[in-house]
Amino acid sequence: MTIQDKYVIYLRRQQALFGDDLFLGAQPGQLATTVAEPDYAAGPLLDYYNEIKDCQNCALGQSRTNFVFGIGNPAADLVFVGEAPGAREDELGEPFVGRSGKLLDQILQAIDLTRKDVFILNVIKCRPPANRDPLAGEVEQCEPYLKQQLKIIEPKLIVALGRVAAKTLLRLDDALGHMRTQQYEYAGIEARVTYHPAALLRNPNLKKPAWDDFQAIRDRYRELAGLPPVNGLAGAAQLN
Ligand code: URA
Repeated sequence: MTIQDKYVIYLRRQQALFGDDLFLGAQPGQLATTVAEPDYAAGPLLDYYNEIKDCQNCALGQSRTNFVFGIGNPAADLVFVGEAPGAREDELGEPFVGRSGKLLDQILQAIDLTRKDVFILNVIKCRPPANRDPLAGEVEQCEPYLKQQLKIIEPKLIVALGRVAAKTLLRLDDALGHMRTQQYEYAGIEARVTYHPAALLRNPNLKKPAWDDFQAIRDRYRELAGLPPVNGLAGAAQLN
């Protein structure tokens, strides 16, 4: 693939994400390199899934269609944490498969990742009725599952998607605009906060700051994972 082909793909991704606005300083990086399909059949994560998938510790166990455990690379260095499954996720048993999930996939692609490279899960594993915010009792029952998943996966960086996930994980009630500028720790792991993809769908003005966040997330992830940095200056110069 020529460098021109790479730029065309990169610009198409940017257009899909941000429309016709071009934010200089962004760069194409390398094209996504997909890791092997995760094999839960062989690993401790599948054992853990089997241990908890029939959970009835709270009332959501009665109303769910599927227990939404999470998806991705069971040894991922980067984990995204959402709030709770919505209708589509409940139906399919996989997190972020609705409209906001499609946007998350596009954002991941723009930072040279796919959902097979990272791990995506939610604080709450079963759908709250009418997509209401999780109740304190539900978080209390479900959070130990999240902690155990993180213990198995051992990521280097956690990203909370949206205010509810951040508030629940970090026990903070700050504005998202403030939280996204801070660095936190959750279960001994470095943690950051950014906008929920659904917020970006509702308010496209948030896409620019979200893109800044995701570039910072990519850079920190690469640093923590021992991957070479992406050279932003070279990319900006070539885009000019
Ligand atoms: N929103 C979330 O927070 N999680 C999902 O899995 C889907 C939508």
